[in-house]
Amino acid sequence: MGNVESRGIEPPSLPPLDQLLPAEPLLLMGAGPVPVATEIARAGGMVINHLGPTMDRLVEHIKQLAGYAFQTADKHILGVGGPASAAMEMAMGNLLWPGRRALVLQNGWFSGRFAEMAAGVGAEVEVLAVPEGQAICAERVAERLKNQHYDVVTMVQGETSSGVCTTELPAIARLCREHGALAVVDAVCTLSTMPLEKDAWGVDVVFTGSQKGLSSLPGVALIAFSDAAWEQVQQHPGPRPHWCLDALRAENFWQQHQYHYTAPVSGLLALHEALRLVCEETLERRFARHRHSSLALQAGIEKMGLVLNAPRRIRLNSVVAIQVPAGVDSARVRADMSNRFHVEISGAFGLDIVRIGQMGEQCRAPHLFRVLHALGGALAHEGASMNTSAGMAALEYYLAGYADDLF
Ligand SMILES: *Cc1c(COP(=O)(O)O)cnc(C)c1O
Repeated sequence: MGNVESRGIEPPSLPPLDQLLPAEPLLLMGAGPVPVATEIARAGGMVINHLGPTMDRLVEHIKQLAGYAFQTADKHILGVGGPASAAMEMAMGNLLWPGRRALVLQNGWFSGRFAEMAAGVGAEVEVLAVPEGQAICAERVAERLKNQHYDVVTMVQGETSSGVCTTELPAIARLCREHGALAVVDAVCTLSTMPLEKDAWGVDVVFTGSQKGLSSLPGVALIAFSDAAWEQVQQHPGPRPHWCLDALRAENFWQQHQYHYTAPVSGLLALHEALRLVCEETLERRFARHRHSSLALQAGIEKMGLVLNAPRRIRLNSVVAIQVPAGVDSARVRADMSNRFHVEISGAFGLDIVRIGQMGEQCRAPHLFRVLHALGGALAHEGASMNTSAGMAALEYYLAGYADDLF
């Protein structure tokens, strides 16, 4: 080191990354992030100039690919640097301000997050809440909208926290339109796993993250605004509360390729690949893969003797929530699955359930067998013996019934 003198805070002496990671890689079967395809991992390992010609083309391609995934001809499709919550915050921060009114349809953790963000920008917020584990139905929304005016109505398509699906979303969006309210939809865990037809259903704003339904690397999000929603974005009286999440500034980059902030180029390259894989597979086949994979897994879980959290009619396919048998510590079950079987699943916020993800790469036959085997083994270890072999047999039976090339 010659005459280089050390001064101030010394560098910490820490092992390299491979010693931080578990010796055996963990299979991510929780509620996101999820495993990624090799094309996506490779793309995410590259860096390009955020203002060069390759980036210009990448942005244009991502908008086209996202238009297919969202099923929209919207002109205002933007990428967002950050988690899915940043896109949620962009929606709230650009459509709401003091004096504006929002109705938040809340049936769980993520749907409730909208209320905090809407209140944070000074809007008047009302919450239509149903208990966690139930779905919001159109009839309740209709009652509210009959007597009150709202500028914005927010909802999730899939409530990841409880495994519940807003099956009446098309009807709710129609009600919003009839009553002059913008329908804002969180499709974070559902996009490309089940139908969502932004234009046909009249949804004004929809957003998603990269690391759930789209099965890409975490860190970027996508949002689409209808013309009606965009007009309202432009009417914001200012001062605009966010700078990075200002939709008008973001639009400069996503339409005119003008610098806003350094776009997360690696995440966007990966997202491009994720969206391209969606197009290659087609939405129809991708929906079928998710539905069949999830239904096979659900059948296996039930045949083991476990109880699923959501009633069948409103059960989400992309996140399967399972009740933990009485007296069993779910944290210990998850730890054992991870330590002995190298499979990770999710716990829950406040509820005594565990959750298995069925998003993107999680919907592959070998992963289904592995997660079910691990769950049965870990429950047995905790003294709750399940009929794991019956579960595995049911899973095999269901999967055999589907076309081989689907998985
Ligand atoms: C995960 C999730 C979010 C939040 O996503 P982040 O990327 O963690 O911000 C929001 N809504 C739903 C439905 C989710 O599943």
